[in-house]
Amino acid sequence: MRKTMIAANWKMHLATHEASLLVHRLHQHIKTHRDIEIVLAPTMLTLQPLSLEIDRRRFRLAAQNAYFKDEGGFTGEVSFTMLRGLVHYAIIGHSERRIYFNESLEMIRDKVAAAIRNEIAPILCVGETKHERDARETRQVLHDQVTTALSGLTADEVSQVVIAYEPVWAISTFGGEIARPLDVAEALKFIRYEVSELYGQNVADEIRILYGGSVNEHTAGGYLALDDCDGALVGSASLNYHSFAAITDVAFRMSHQA
Ligand code: PEP
Repeated sequence: MRKTMIAANWKMHLATHEASLLVHRLHQHIKTHRDIEIVLAPTMLTLQPLSLEIDRRRFRLAAQNAYFKDEGGFTGEVSFTMLRGLVHYAIIGHSERRIYFNESLEMIRDKVAAAIRNEIAPILCVGETKHERDARETRQVLHDQVTTALSGLTADEVSQVVIAYEPVWAISTFGGEIARPLDVAEALKFIRYEVSELYGQNVADEIRILYGGSVNEHTAGGYLALDDCDGALVGSASLNYHSFAAITDVAFRMSHQA
């Protein structure tokens, strides 16, 4: 059984006191759903204080990024080694990092390996740009991103990875077009197929695949109903406690219908 994950990517929003306030509101509004894993990804600066404030039975923390070297002369960076024990997960390969910070396929592969080495499960983001979609290159892009990022890992390590399919054109930062669940279903199925080709059917059955791209309380149900969808990575709507709590309620209801 794959446990549904609803993850909040707060991006570069919320100073420490604002993040604390949002966590306080989430404690008030999110019911304890044992079957749903709720993950919060605040900025690097707020991870430590929030780790002392969150109810660990209800929330887990994720970093939004880290550097692949364990330590050294890399001014401004924080390593996965330093995050060990503080976070369960790390978002890796988010399109904002691929596009704004020129993160290459190889750098993302090295970050995935560094996370695993430090016992942090990667939430690996993959997805095509609008240009690639229009050129019908979605499958090729997903193939390249998935294959490179997971290369060098054992089957056991791959089963710890969570993959988030986030078509770039559907992310609020890059236009926020609403993706049709039918199209999302096809991409999720293809990603699971790719994992089965690389690591076998057992790993493909175990690995969790999320959808991300302008998910809100109104659209979440359409994606969560898909066979291959094991949750959502939520950006903008996760900054609003009403919306984010409502998304977790939808996920809970749907996991109980299944
Ligand atoms: C994201 O950044 O991962 C994301 C899905 O953002 P949004 O929900 O705002 O599109």
